[in-house]
Amino acid sequence: MQINHEHPVLGQMKLYDHEQVVFCNDNATGLKAIIAVHNTVLGPALGGTRMWNYSNELEALNDVLRLSRGMTYKSSVAGINLGGGKAVIIGDAKKIKNEALLRRFGKFINSLGGKYITAEDVSMNSRDMEIINMETKYVSGIPEAMGGSGDPSPFTAYGVYVAMKASANEKYGSDSLKGKKILVQGLGNVGGHLVEHLSKEGAELFLYDINQERVKELVSKFKATAADPATMFDLDIDIYSPCALGATVNDYTLEKLKCQIICGAANNQLEDEVKHGETVMKKGILYAPDYVVNSGGIINVYYELDKYNRDRALNHTEKIYETTRNIFQVSKSENIPTYLAANHLAEKRIQAIAGVKVKF
Ligand code: NAD
Repeated sequence: MQINHEHPVLGQMKLYDHEQVVFCNDNATGLKAIIAVHNTVLGPALGGTRMWNYSNELEALNDVLRLSRGMTYKSSVAGINLGGGKAVIIGDAKKIKNEALLRRFGKFINSLGGKYITAEDVSMNSRDMEIINMETKYVSGIPEAMGGSGDPSPFTAYGVYVAMKASANEKYGSDSLKGKKILVQGLGNVGGHLVEHLSKEGAELFLYDINQERVKELVSKFKATAADPATMFDLDIDIYSPCALGATVNDYTLEKLKCQIICGAANNQLEDEVKHGETVMKKGILYAPDYVVNSGGIINVYYELDKYNRDRALNHTEKIYETTRNIFQVSKSENIPTYLAANHLAEKRIQAIAGVKVKF
């Protein structure tokens, strides 16, 4: 996303079609936050709060606008009745995050009357959600003990797993991942659960994480092979599963990668959506779009909003299989990259439902 210095706020809102952006300041607690509501056609704008020590306000604004728009697309394709929103709190969580700041932030969320619902994101945890919940009911991702849905990672991992099966079906004509050589990068909450599904199915696993202890633990538990970061993109693999950071599908890795499928949990996997989305297509690599694949978490949170039912959330997560196949179909029939096919699908649903809502 480009920063338009002449029109840094309204110019960018217009460009990406944001409905509302709220700037929050409180001198007493040191709170500086931005809440972005991108689109509420499908429902209230849900998206996590990220706390980060941004180097300047434009960087924070850019992040919240980009992320909130992403949430609109994610929820639309996931077939849930949520719009897209996101919030950022500017500052070092280790230094300034405390009860008063979070409660003040909760009051700002409350003032939006339910148009924005928050959740966890970077530097925010379920305890923080409990504190925000003291000032507003518009919070999700609260612990199970408090009636919430708890950790969304198992759902996210399950969604990645079914999307990988859909990708295998598209590429190899069968859902089976047995014997497939899979590199999983990032063995955290999602990566760990994913590795368990893949191991049960008999995949041959290559694992990498910057946390060496975690690699050792999972290599021994699942009889996998530890991947060397210096050579892991040269490995002769079938599937690459990025489950750590974004932007790992880039000029450097695409030069090396020999896989046929990219399917993982990380957000914003394509360093440059347009350029690398087209390159993967040209190279014959099937890219399962990240926000479709990793929507199990938001699907789970969605069911938390109305009498949480784990089975319903799991059934809905399973639909990621069909959605992924549908996207591959559109990509093939329109000869467009898969990321674009996903975007079109998201936009189509929003337009269709917007039409329904104005008719009485
Ligand atoms: P996590 O923090 O539990 O795990 C991330 C793991 O990646 C950690 O083990 C960390 O050591 C490792 N890591 C960090 N930098 C790395 C690097 N350069 N190379 C290799 N490993 C590295 O996070 P998570 O909840 O498992 O999420 C993983 C990814 O999926 C993130 O990008 C997240 O945004 C995305 N995601 C998560 C969810 C969810 O439900 N948790 C939902 C949607 C998307």
